[in-house]
Amino acid sequence: MSIAKCLDFCSNLTVRGSLIVFIQVLAIGLIRENLISAMENSVIEEAVIHEIKSRVESHRDELVQFMKDLCAIPSYDSKIRDVGERAAVEMKKLGFDEVWFDQMGNIVGRIGNGPTKLLYDSHIDTVGIGDPNEWEWDPFEGKVENGILFARGASDEKASTPGMIYGLAIARDLGLLEGVTGYYFGNMEEWCDGIAPNALVDAEGIRPDFVVIGEPTKMQIYRGHKGRVEMKIVAKGKSAHAASNHLGVNAIYKLIPAIHAISTMGRPELADHPFLGQGRITITDMKVETPSINAVPNLATIYIDRRITFGEDPEAVVQQIDHIIAEYEDVDVKVLFYDDPSYTGFVFPVDKIFPAWALPENHPYVEAGLEAGSLLWDDSLTTGAWSFSTNGTYWMGKAHIPSIGFGPGDEIHAHTVIDQVVLDDVVRATEWYALMPGMLPAKQE
Ligand SMILES: [Zn+2]
Repeated sequence: MSIAKCLDFCSNLTVRGSLIVFIQVLAIGLIRENLISAMENSVIEEAVIHEIKSRVESHRDELVQFMKDLCAIPSYDSKIRDVGERAAVEMKKLGFDEVWFDQMGNIVGRIGNGPTKLLYDSHIDTVGIGDPNEWEWDPFEGKVENGILFARGASDEKASTPGMIYGLAIARDLGLLEGVTGYYFGNMEEWCDGIAPNALVDAEGIRPDFVVIGEPTKMQIYRGHKGRVEMKIVAKGKSAHAASNHLGVNAIYKLIPAIHAISTMGRPELADHPFLGQGRITITDMKVETPSINAVPNLATIYIDRRITFGEDPEAVVQQIDHIIAEYEDVDVKVLFYDDPSYTGFVFPVDKIFPAWALPENHPYVEAGLEAGSLLWDDSLTTGAWSFSTNGTYWMGKAHIPSIGFGPGDEIHAHTVIDQVVLDDVVRATEWYALMPGMLPAKQE
């Protein structure tokens, strides 16, 4: 609102009321002007930091309640409709320009119209609760003890949603979204990481320039993780009565060379990387088809989880296995694929290939994330990598969109019955999410 409009607006009020309102509106106008000029000079002044902190503090109770509400609404098995609606309520309350469910059923909020697109990614589905008897409290209602909320999804990763949504609204109010379109993307990730962002880009036509992944980073900046390829080796045999086994071909025995080769695989087949560590390979399951336990099995399948480090080509690791089994007849390797319909019935088939990714420590976007932390909290943040996989496997691994991770919580609590987050970090993270739109480097064309 310009000052001329303020005067216009104030002239219609009573003298006493109008003076107070005029001073308030003028003050907000001046703060905003200062912030914009600070942005234009690419210098975030102390006044901006102060204003972000005081606005976040004024929303503390709402942020904490929002977080508790998100956890109290079950959202396992990718069923995120209800929790998405809760997030939508908050976005509408804060005046997001557009809030909608995409075709897959993820909740999207848009705020601002600038040419640079910044997307905050928070998966709002969780894993199940496992054996309910293992929980000492209601996994959804949770409990708060010493400022820590214990509930399913507290660390992984509902905790980033409140800060992302409030942060974007605060950024808009302080002029930090000038030139930026901010998106909040509350999505499903647990069953197939990367599929929701892949569908957002390909089916909805929204391709951000920068992404922040809200998976737990202990309030530090993460810049990569290993990838993986999920495969199976299928061996076909020929069934026969066990008493006449010489008439059959045992499908299990045909897998023995592959099992041996995989179990003894090491360097150099499994490459190493100084930041992400070494690739790994594990046979994780086996299924056998046999007429009976008194018969030679006709089919045997082993499942392989191949963790790939940065620099390992997903296709090359499939060829590695292909090479091992090349000389055996009727033994084949296949990459698994995911085509389960979402709760809206949306199907988006993808191969279960999840590339590793890593941004260098001195990448301008990583540096911007670190700088936002030091401006807010003085002490410098560090960079790290997740042990687990995230939607970054698509954002950076496949689409090559600069991505960093920032979120409350610690991944060691993910999927456990002591799933937890420090509520003060849920609030404090909002400051970083509010500042980050004002810290973006020039986008890569
Ligand atoms: Zn997660």
